[in-house]
Amino acid sequence: MTSRLDLPSVLRLILGNAVEMLQGQAGLIALRQEDGGLQVQASYGLPLDILHLFAPLLTDIPTHEAREQGTREQGTRESAPLRPCDSATLLHGLGLRQVVALPLTMEDNLIGVIYIFRSQGGVPFSANDHQVLASFADQAAIAVHNARLYQQLMHEKRRLDAIIQNSADGVMILDPQRHIQVFNRALEEMTGWAAGEALGQPCSRVLALQDRQGEDICDATCPLFQTEPGEHLYAEGDVQRPDGSVVTVGITYSPLYDKESHLVSIIANVRDITRFRETEEMKSTFVSVISHELKSPVSIIKGYADTLRREDAQWDEDTLRQGLAVIAEESDRLNKLIDNLLDASRLQASAFKLELSYLQVDKLAEKVMDEFRTQSSEHMFTLDFPPDPSPGSGHRFPAVRGDIERLRQVLTNLLSNAIKYSPRGGLIRTGGWADDDWVYVYVADEGIGIPRSEQERIFERFYRAESPLTRRTEGAGLGLYLCKEVVEAHGGKIWVQSEPGKGARFIFKLPRG
Ligand code: ADP
Repeated sequence: MTSRLDLPSVLRLILGNAVEMLQGQAGLIALRQEDGGLQVQASYGLPLDILHLFAPLLTDIPTHEAREQGTREQGTRESAPLRPCDSATLLHGLGLRQVVALPLTMEDNLIGVIYIFRSQGGVPFSANDHQVLASFADQAAIAVHNARLYQQLMHEKRRLDAIIQNSADGVMILDPQRHIQVFNRALEEMTGWAAGEALGQPCSRVLALQDRQGEDICDATCPLFQTEPGEHLYAEGDVQRPDGSVVTVGITYSPLYDKESHLVSIIANVRDITRFRETEEMKSTFVSVISHELKSPVSIIKGYADTLRREDAQWDEDTLRQGLAVIAEESDRLNKLIDNLLDASRLQASAFKLELSYLQVDKLAEKVMDEFRTQSSEHMFTLDFPPDPSPGSGHRFPAVRGDIERLRQVLTNLLSNAIKYSPRGGLIRTGGWADDDWVYVYVADEGIGIPRSEQERIFERFYRAESPLTRRTEGAGLGLYLCKEVVEAHGGKIWVQSEPGKGARFIFKLPRG
């Protein structure tokens, strides 16, 4: 009885045994509530719907003193007072004639009362019966006390589990052998492992940390628990998820020791720091790209200006003009970069307003292409916007509602990239088509192309694909970012189709006007 921990079943067991032992017909156990009153928690041999009628009986609590008094007077416990029932009529109606009630006490605290009833005509409760019930009551009190402690413990455990499960950070608890015992929801999301699969696994299998060079650093961090109590260990690294994607995490391991300084468990708090890392990387890319991109035109301008103003040299008109032309070109380049930077920071601050009007994007593309035509002799340019065959369209390419200057910027960036990234020349095609909802525009080249793995990232701020040509060519990695933001601000979408070495085709679509 004392080893059972589930309170309702403990109470049922106690009562059943007590009624049986005392050859009674029915019984009740009422437990003390927080307000001090008693409430029936278990019944035996009584219809459930009449239990509330026993309320008056519960106000008459047999005291510990009364039990002790009886013991002293009689020298035994046999005459522990048999309380007459106030609800005699009720008991009568049920055919119950006698009642014995004993307090369940634990360390002098009243936990509850046990009542046993005998039917009319039964043998009266003897002193021996009381003694049996009294020793029984002591055992019962311990069992109730234990079950209550267990209930409290379970309640606390559930509360703690809920806190761990709902924590926004990943939480993992390891046993001293580094096997996973607890794996919360945030960690499931972060790592792509289901808790059911992660539990019991070695930590190094689920969170196999790798450094930036792909070296396994889990073994280097997991066994490092020669830390003093209260000390933590922090490790950062990449974790490969089951779907192949990579997430960068920071883990704080906190070892938990017992009084004898034995490691009991290790609590690991895991944070997804992918975004943080990316921002950090972006900051450093920003600084290096911008300093490089700003520095080279400024040094060229300065070099030419210093040379041209030398007092010891006489420059002919041609040299002068050429020098000044370079200065003007480089100033334009600087100006463009500064404009792009300002646009990018405006976009970030969401201070980006479109000035909308109906426009023919095919005509705009033609104009932009004409400007480029004059700039490059190595490239051929073609334009292909088929007229709209539908009746009433006037055979014109469908119009869009857009910001003409921003869309000019998109086409300029795409065409200037097409030239920049096809250094051996080739054909540059601009064209479009339309369906019922969208107008599509593309710019295609025959240049170096873009590996599939980079095709999404090139639209990120400051991102430049890895290639010897990219390293040689000027650029801040802002052009495509601006294109994407402008197209998306119009409710459209931009993407690229490409294979390395086979050119690239950038396509964007805008809602039909
Ligand atoms: P930037 O040209 O200044 O580097 P962009 O944002 O315009 O920046 O382009 C980002 C990256 O995408 C480029 O660095 C280049 O690696 C790649 N890219 C863009 N356009 C092309 C293209 N037409 N062909 C091949 N690679 C391209």
